[in-house]
Amino acid sequence: MEQMEWGRPTVAAIDLEAIRENVRNTARLTGPDTGVIAVVKADGYGHGAARVAEAALEAGAMMLAVATPDEAVELREAGLEADILLLGASPVPFARIAAEQDIIITADSPAWMEAVAAAAPDFVRPLRVHLKVDTGMGRLGVRSAEDLLRMYRAARAANISVDGIFTHFATADEPDNEVWRMQASGFREAVELLPERPRLVHASNSAATFMHPECKFDAVRLGISMYGIAPSDFVRERLPFPLRPALMLSTELVHVKRLGRGDTVSYGATYRAQGDEWVGTLPIGYADGLLRGQSGQDVLIGGRRCRIVGRICMDQCMVRLPHEMAPGEPVVLLGKQGNERVSPDEWAERLGTIPYEVVVTLSKRIPRVYLQGRGEY
Ligand SMILES: *Cc1c(COP(=O)(O)O)cnc(C)c1O
Repeated sequence: MEQMEWGRPTVAAIDLEAIRENVRNTARLTGPDTGVIAVVKADGYGHGAARVAEAALEAGAMMLAVATPDEAVELREAGLEADILLLGASPVPFARIAAEQDIIITADSPAWMEAVAAAAPDFVRPLRVHLKVDTGMGRLGVRSAEDLLRMYRAARAANISVDGIFTHFATADEPDNEVWRMQASGFREAVELLPERPRLVHASNSAATFMHPECKFDAVRLGISMYGIAPSDFVRERLPFPLRPALMLSTELVHVKRLGRGDTVSYGATYRAQGDEWVGTLPIGYADGLLRGQSGQDVLIGGRRCRIVGRICMDQCMVRLPHEMAPGEPVVLLGKQGNERVSPDEWAERLGTIPYEVVVTLSKRIPRVYLQGRGEY
């Protein structure tokens, strides 16, 4: 590992081969007529956008997608030359930068498109946009045929390329449902309205890619599952191939002590030893994204589950050990050790949230190190 010898032992190791395998398996599933757009927003769901993007492209992804203008520019600055689609709303002045850097941006309303069209004659190169249709997500995009056509015409009149059209599903990770069906049919109608079919029609996120393969169009936008995480419990039980987790969060015991009956641990003294107990200290806390709600979560030490006891501090937390251990003992917080595994799904359940939130919450303070296939997380 690239980790410095004098640094804190807390690291997130990302296996880029797992990313590649998840992309390849998805591409095999969707077939040769449907591309994979690798979604690397939020710093690659906490895994590191540029490195994940490179791995996804090596595995055959056709395009990258991000959420914010800065994320798109960062990928260009990292030297990535692939197509980049900005899924979020762009401030009108960003359109000029997008044209310069060949970043595809999302057109989400006629007023926005007309404002960009007015500035377009000054762009160094024709801008490319994807039209966004709101079919039920209630987020970005147009909701009527009239607005869609107004947006399309404003773009074409200004020599802006309408390279794609897309929508986003609200309920694809749940059992087949009315909202999903309404969205899919509404989107098909919207595509039919355009005088010319754009190069890329796309709708599916990870969940829809697996649950509704008939709806794949020209590309799927693969986010969470590229990282080896299922979008929901419902989808996890129905995956067409096993996802390979890419991230392992690990550290080491930095301190070990013996407590006697009644001795307390951490702020508030909420944990009290029942008798003689061994307790170890881990150099990771809520400033790293191990949130206070994770007190009581198990970590893996020596292939066994050990519980986090007492309140989680900003930079540290304590775990109950089965017996005396030496500082330096490896600890896995997310990933596999021996026959045991702790997944982001397990953390999410404890926190009452989704695994997406778990991985994007891992803070910048944790160094990311990259492996090429040695990981088995
Ligand atoms: C984040 C996002 C995706 C990826 O969704 P996953 O559930 O992570 O696969 C796709 N499309 C849009 C518009 C998004 O915002």
